[in-house]
Amino acid sequence: MLNILKTENLKSYYIFETPTEKKEVKAVNDVSIDIEEDKIYGVAGESGCGKSTFLKTVCGLAEPPLRIVGGTIYYLVNGKYVDITKLSQEEYRKLRWEYISYIPQGSMSALNPIIRVKESFKDFVTAHKKIKDDQKDFEEPLRKHLNALGLPMRVLKSYPHQLSGGMRQRVTIALATILNPRIILADEPTTALDVVAQRAVIQLLKDIQSLQKNTIILVTHDMAVHANIADRMLIMYAGVFVEEADTEELFENPLHPYTKFLIGSLPKMGDKSYKVSAPGSPPSLANLPQGCPFHPRCPYVMDICKNERPALVETKPSHKVSCFLNSKERIQND
Ligand code: SF4
Ligand code: MG
Repeated sequence: MLNILKTENLKSYYIFETPTEKKEVKAVNDVSIDIEEDKIYGVAGESGCGKSTFLKTVCGLAEPPLRIVGGTIYYLVNGKYVDITKLSQEEYRKLRWEYISYIPQGSMSALNPIIRVKESFKDFVTAHKKIKDDQKDFEEPLRKHLNALGLPMRVLKSYPHQLSGGMRQRVTIALATILNPRIILADEPTTALDVVAQRAVIQLLKDIQSLQKNTIILVTHDMAVHANIADRMLIMYAGVFVEEADTEELFENPLHPYTKFLIGSLPKMGDKSYKVSAPGSPPSLANLPQGCPFHPRCPYVMDICKNERPALVETKPSHKVSCFLNSKERIQND
């Protein structure tokens, strides 16, 4: 399987500078990760751990105060790896939406509220493609796309406020995928929806992936959503990935103490026992502890954990973890 996205030692910080002070919030703190084609990845972790920033950064949307301070972001484009941190704005614009599609958090507002949905689709498509024949180049593909995704044609005539929150979200996702992007980055697309609408959005993303054979990276703190949709999972903590495995394996055999807490705190059918969540709260990304970032909360903390940072390494086939309980590998502290 080919990797469609690779980051190497990626660091992306929010930097706040005043004449007397410089504050760095290390939201993505030295991340090297490979994302395979044709898979749904789930990125999980408590809020404030860097999930959204990771997505924004790899999507090429880092804007001040967020800055990429180190590392590379490679996408496989037409068989060649392209480092998007080195592209000009024009080169990047060509990749955006046709190759990389981003569905931001609270994307309900992505539709223009004062025009009908069909006009939003038209504005979007014409911004990227030359339309010669309205019927053949726009109407037909649009209807085919909505049909394939099981969306009713009536949405086209509606204004966004006439649609329910769940339907608006599905329409936004249909819009973001109409150009058949190779990779879709979605930030909390089911948050703020009721359970029925959530299920419809998850099904829609699954349908898109099986139709278009693209890669989806889905960020959500909701482990139940991941269990439902993700092929593979990445657990994020304090700006780094601490565990990566296929979803079933991760839920059955979590290796990192933090992942164990995340999974252990999930309610199970018929189980009324008290659930333990991780003690304490995540560290401030502006003031990370030395060594393993989880050590102040970890019940298994050892001396080495307080000084050295564990590297993310494969300890079982296709299962990576960054914890000294599982591997002695460490990364250089800077
Ligand atoms: Fe706990 Fe040490 Fe593993 Fe960090 S490296 S998770 S502190 S045992
Ligand atoms: Mg977020």
